[in-house]
Amino acid sequence: MSQITQLLNYQKKDSELLALEEELANSDERKKYLQTQNFLKKASEKLDQLEGKSQELASLFERLTGKYEEIAETLKDYEHIDELVAGGADISFYQRSAQQLTDSLKSLKGEVNNLISVAKETQDEYLALKKKVLAAQKQYPDLKNAYQEYKKTRQEAAAKVSAELENIAKDIDEGVLKKYKAKRAERIFPILCEIKSDRCSKCGMELSLADKETVSEGRVVECENCHRFLYKV
Ligand SMILES: [Zn+2]
Repeated sequence: MSQITQLLNYQKKDSELLALEEELANSDERKKYLQTQNFLKKASEKLDQLEGKSQELASLFERLTGKYEEIAETLKDYEHIDELVAGGADISFYQRSAQQLTDSLKSLKGEVNNLISVAKETQDEYLALKKKVLAAQKQYPDLKNAYQEYKKTRQEAAAKVSAELENIAKDIDEGVLKKYKAKRAERIFPILCEIKSDRCSKCGMELSLADKETVSEGRVVECENCHRFLYKV
């Protein structure tokens, strides 16, 4: 059997292996498993973020409580205001101070309302995410199993094809096979293509004069453009 026929046989068998690899790579089992894995990874980062935010909100709450206590402390001055005024204190000072306290309380109320709404949003976000995470965590072991089971069947099938490939490879020149495998690793396929009208049938590149001579001797050349093996029937 000629070298070209052997290589073509090898490539035909190799396409079965490629199909198995693609089946696994494009399988629903793999997609669902990876999607869930990815979701859980991102969700864990997001939960950390929300935890950080909730800590920020707690310290903001503390700051606002401090402000409230300051105002409450100042208000104590007003408990004895009648005595102070009777004793000759300047009432207009207390009027201005009362106005400032009212303004501070209004602004504090606004800040507290803001805090409540942000805290509520954060909590809602957290609860919704937590619910999704729990559902995903529950599904994850089954998805992982299903993927591994499927992977095993594809790998077993691939091992059979690989053994047949090795058998065919015995009759192929080692150097040629090595080059073939390198191209295969670069995801070039098919690797061996027919020459049509002195051109690569895959990319259309015309053969050099030297290559035309080589193929006329029944040997294989490499396309200068797409680097596939080219042969003439
Ligand atoms: Zn080409």
